[in-house]
Amino acid sequence: MTALLEARDLVRVYEGRKKLFGAPVPVRAVDGISLRVNQGEVLGIVGESGSGKSTLGRMLLGVDPSQGGEVRYRGEPLPPFGTPQWRSLRARMQMIYQDPLAALDRRLTIADQIREPLEIHQIGAEADRRARVAELMRSVGLRPDQAGRYPHELSGGQRQRVVIARALATEPDLLVCDEPVSALDVSIQAQVVNLLRELQGKGALGMVFISHDLKVVRNLCDRVAVMYLGRVVEEGPSEQLFAEPRHPYTQALISSVPEPGRALDSRVILQGEPPNPARRPSGCAFHPRCSLASEICRADVPQLDQVGPGQMAACHHVDTARFDAA
Ligand code: SF4
Repeated sequence: MTALLEARDLVRVYEGRKKLFGAPVPVRAVDGISLRVNQGEVLGIVGESGSGKSTLGRMLLGVDPSQGGEVRYRGEPLPPFGTPQWRSLRARMQMIYQDPLAALDRRLTIADQIREPLEIHQIGAEADRRARVAELMRSVGLRPDQAGRYPHELSGGQRQRVVIARALATEPDLLVCDEPVSALDVSIQAQVVNLLRELQGKGALGMVFISHDLKVVRNLCDRVAVMYLGRVVEEGPSEQLFAEPRHPYTQALISSVPEPGRALDSRVILQGEPPNPARRPSGCAFHPRCSLASEICRADVPQLDQVGPGQMAACHHVDTARFDAA
């Protein structure tokens, strides 16, 4: 089956901060990532802040250029950013950001913002566009009387609904959602997640869902990729990965999520912060925080290997890995 979106060996290096007397230190924000999203599938990308999740999300749409590897959309290489071919493809691939207020134009009404992509991509006549805006507003749970309002007149949840309606205007087949609910109140989060689940369940919409909230990811995603310092350290079907995480980092992340019925003292609390990406530890980058680290972990970078049906993990001790609280 041809993937809707496929990334191979993606690399993104930023120029880090300059040392006092010397050259800037390069930071490998994304370091050789390969993944695929199939039609109608939701791929979750999780990891702590600084793991490279958002950079990867932008690279998947070609907004952030890759310095190595490639992204293919329906088997074809993504055109270079900003070219007419790339712009017309953007109608098929949309992005939803964390902060809806920043994503919206404060001077435009809700209806005008939702209509804008139809105008940019010259889709439909004026009457069709009006009807499409009304239909989109209905589909995301916005009332017709809100059409003439401005972003500051809406709640955070309503604004994110506008952003989603706008992203869906051109009938994309891929949505990249970067922390789409983390700026919202908990009750509103559930509404927006339910809305995304409904939209995804209706057809062949593929989704990349970037989040640090494992509960939401578990709820929504078919497959999950776990990132640590610019690399995928584990990937697999969501149910399997949450039931039997194989990488110590995934085990620690999952264990830190409070679950009803699980004793607090059985939770593994991940110690310390992720290392500075400009000073990536040798071997397995997780070794300074891993209670299982051995000599080989400090020397050799572990590769992603198959550890179960559709499940991969990059750990030298994956067969015995049971991460303990440090
Ligand atoms: Fe821990 Fe070693 Fe596995 Fe890295 S390779 S996660 S340090 S056991």
